[in-house]
Amino acid sequence: MDRYAVIGNPIAHSKSPPIHGLFARQTGEQLQYEALLAPLDDFAGTLRDFLQEGRGVNVTVPFKEQAWALVDSRTPAAERAGAVNTIQRLDDGSLLGDNTDGKGLVRDIQHNAGLPLAGKRILLIGAGGAARGVIQPLLEAGPAQLCVVNRTVEKAEQLAMLFKDQGPISAAGFDWLEESVDLIINATSASLDGQLPPLPPSLIRPGHTWCYDMMYASEATVFNRWADEQGAARCIDGLGMLVEQAAEAFFLWRGVRPDTAPVLASLRQRG
Ligand code: NDP
Repeated sequence: MDRYAVIGNPIAHSKSPPIHGLFARQTGEQLQYEALLAPLDDFAGTLRDFLQEGRGVNVTVPFKEQAWALVDSRTPAAERAGAVNTIQRLDDGSLLGDNTDGKGLVRDIQHNAGLPLAGKRILLIGAGGAARGVIQPLLEAGPAQLCVVNRTVEKAEQLAMLFKDQGPISAAGFDWLEESVDLIINATSASLDGQLPPLPPSLIRPGHTWCYDMMYASEATVFNRWADEQGAARCIDGLGMLVEQAAEAFFLWRGVRPDTAPVLASLRQRG
């Protein structure tokens, strides 16, 4: 049976094994999917050992940049993202790296939540790996403006420079923010520590602005609670993005696109 795995550190609480298990059952694909803990100083060894037999791997925190450097070829999405979250072992034994995070985010917002991104003014908070991985697909969706805001402004400016030929992108520090936008995407790790980035309430036009936190938890994140208090039209967490990026990986590996709606519903039910 074809074997796949998610590799990270920590990995015990990863939802990828149940997600891919549900995809496999739904599509009738015969595969085995496991979670592998890699030592922080030996991701390469864990990857190499697994892919002697395994057909593909998902990569999570903190190894996505290392995965980018280790693969033999990359899709355009992975190339610019500077990070790889999906690896496929090709028939000649070489490793192809993809990054499906951005496609997953855009699909969750446009298809699942029903917000078309074309013509929208979007604020992307954060300039770490997650933010970098979603910029290209966001720009491809045709927003009027994508502004990257980060605590360390230089990192936001670097991203704006890197993607400036791909669409209308700019950079800012938190102090410069004032005008309301159509969509705020939180790609910082602040929610993990229960912290809120210093966002002025004026960013949210009550009943109009949508808010998306890439983090997910059984209860609303601190960012989504704040957004709700300011009257945001809709607050969404990152569970849908997680399921959609997994579906993109499944499609790359198996050539079959799973129906994500029942899988997302099942995960929400489990809490
Ligand atoms: P990184 O460590 O690479 O980047 C962290 C970012 O958060 C930096 O921009 C950092 O700013 C900023 N930050 C951290 N704390 C604060 C704070 N208190 N106030 C303001 N900014 C802060 O993390 P990742 O980019 O890899 O991950 C970010 C988030 O995205 C995580 O919560 C992760 O779980 C989530 N994620 C979700 C996915 C999904 O499928 N739903 C997929 C991938 C990621 P600075 O540069 O100034 O330090």
